[in-house]
Amino acid sequence: MVNRRNPQPTLTWTEGPEADVPLSVCDLWVEYGAPRGAVKAVRGASFDLCKGETLSLIGESGSGKTTLALALIRLLPRSASIRKGQIIYRRDGREYDVLSLDPGDLRQFRWKECAMVFQSALNAFNPVLKIWDQMYDTVKAHDQTDRETVRQRALDLLKLVQLEPARVINAYPHELSGGMRQRVLLAMSLLLNPQVIILDEPTTALDILTQRTIIDLLRKLKQELGFSMVFISHDLSLAAELADRVATMYAGRVVEVGNVYEVFYRPKHPYTLGLIKAVPTVTGGFQELACISGCPPDLIHLPAGCKFHPRCLYASERCREEEPELIPATRGHLVACFGWEEVQRDGDKEWRQREQEAVEVPWPGN
Ligand code: SF4
Repeated sequence: MVNRRNPQPTLTWTEGPEADVPLSVCDLWVEYGAPRGAVKAVRGASFDLCKGETLSLIGESGSGKTTLALALIRLLPRSASIRKGQIIYRRDGREYDVLSLDPGDLRQFRWKECAMVFQSALNAFNPVLKIWDQMYDTVKAHDQTDRETVRQRALDLLKLVQLEPARVINAYPHELSGGMRQRVLLAMSLLLNPQVIILDEPTTALDILTQRTIIDLLRKLKQELGFSMVFISHDLSLAAELADRVATMYAGRVVEVGNVYEVFYRPKHPYTLGLIKAVPTVTGGFQELACISGCPPDLIHLPAGCKFHPRCLYASERCREEEPELIPATRGHLVACFGWEEVQRDGDKEWRQREQEAVEVPWPGN
């Protein structure tokens, strides 16, 4: 896709008319000011989010996922600054750059066009206000003040997220469990019918069964309401379940992006392959878990060349001097790695081996 405001074409990650792409991020750079220097949290991120799709951002803590998400709705802390880039939002044939919105338009954009579900549901609520007051305040901030209409919409949404509406709407946040609070947040994010929802690790603090409920719910809501999602997670299995496409982030950059099956079954970046190998399987024999050696880089003093080279088993002399561009390796699958073909071969081997080692797990009671 060619960005009309920028003579440089951005990477073509999607095909089809722009109307089917509500959000495009083009060469976005975000830094935090720190006493030791500038923390380069996001470095040249570019992606398109298609209508009705789920894009999962995966990567270790500190890889830039949350900063990128906060930049999308301009909720970054004061110490952060957006150095460069564009965030193009489209609806009903109109488009604008989110970064150039004035405070009034930005307030309308947040929640009405693009809503966010934060990491910790308890911290996202005001502890001294009932759920109803918080829901009403959210809508009131966007000029819709008919209490009865808002209340009915709130009750409908609470029902949609499988809660007991009459009880939950009159509860304080501390009277609800973690899973219930997360579902209330989801309902709140849908109050103004946004086109895009950003979910920042929405299931991190939840037990595995509640995680499953939330994931099933998200899938159902997306089908019913047709919004697009940016789903941030360091849990690969959740990302794989929910995503249509996956983007791997490392040291503030998107280093691989593609269709979920392509990225998980034919990874082309050593970091993605390392993340996959580090996931324990329940069908294989007991074996030591693989890990990615070393630590994520210092984002103030980044290494030269490819930022992954100090940890990479495939690194060559070229990798120590030059940072690879994100380029198409196969149709719709982009990677920033000089040695992606070798990585792909090893990925194929890994999956073949897993298939051979797979053992039948008896279901309890059978
Ligand atoms: Fe490894 Fe080189 Fe690829 Fe970087 S470019 S991930 S160092 S092989």
